[in-house]
Amino acid sequence: MSNFNYPNFPVSRLRRLRRTPALRDMFRETRLSKEDFIYPLFVVEGAKIKKEIGSMPDNFQMSVDNILCECEELETLGINSILLFGIPQTKDAVGSGAYDANGIIQKALREIKKRFSEMLVITDVCLCEYTAHGHCGVVENGFVENDKTLELLAKEALSHAENGADIIAPSDMMDGRVAAIRQKLDENGFSETPIMAYSAKFSSAFYGPFREAAESAPQFGDRKSYQMDFGNSDEAMREIALDIQEGADVVMVKPALSYLDLIRRAKDNFNVPIAAYNVSGEYSMIKAAAEKGWIDGEKVMLEVLTSIKRAGADVIITYFAKEAAKII
Ligand SMILES: [Zn+2]
Repeated sequence: MSNFNYPNFPVSRLRRLRRTPALRDMFRETRLSKEDFIYPLFVVEGAKIKKEIGSMPDNFQMSVDNILCECEELETLGINSILLFGIPQTKDAVGSGAYDANGIIQKALREIKKRFSEMLVITDVCLCEYTAHGHCGVVENGFVENDKTLELLAKEALSHAENGADIIAPSDMMDGRVAAIRQKLDENGFSETPIMAYSAKFSSAFYGPFREAAESAPQFGDRKSYQMDFGNSDEAMREIALDIQEGADVVMVKPALSYLDLIRRAKDNFNVPIAAYNVSGEYSMIKAAAEKGWIDGEKVMLEVLTSIKRAGADVIITYFAKEAAKII
């Protein structure tokens, strides 16, 4: 707000510009557009698989053939970017499937880029979907070892880039992983591949439904030794600052809805693109309440997505992307 002295009532009447739909439309400050959205997809091995995720209505685990059909639909809807999560057939202690040239993401990338060269394909880089213990890194004596994990994450990122990923999105929350990935990509001829870092990723109960979708629940303990404490805002700014210094092109706040203050704070503090992840729990709550007839799901969805953009997000990763694209 400027220091200008606005005239008081009755000279000022803010309702004047709210009187008709045309006036309200003209003076709306925040508008959603299809280009704002990134749609997450879960890829599984096999063929002709399209299995609905129980806690996330209208979202599916899909085999590559069905992912291609999905891309066709997205293209028709005008959604041009997707975020891929891979669910491998087998898991092991070091998440080998994550950096296997014939891993599920690598295969999906090759097929998608062959048919949909214009589609912006972002890949989640983490180990939790690929490790038998379900943690995001190498576990030794019950602890996720930071520096040993970096090497594997860098390997995974390079493997994604080699198979056609347009943007690499590390979600593990290890210290120093953006630098490790940047260096690995640069050394191997991928200096033009951007990194979208999950910078302020909180240990959140809102991820519940996602764990069913990605089959990535930790088999012991929780992720609190690497994901952030939801009471912390200053620390989130430090995480974001470090990721920018390490070479992140886009920084992310995750989840979105309970963290709108951090999206705004990041936008005000750092002159970089901000992504926000409208996570599974935020999606499922609206779906469940709408199903019960307690809220108007469509209206609540638009209000939530608009609030995330108004808070300062440049792009929104959301399971609502298709539904929202149909009505805006
Ligand atoms: Zn993870």
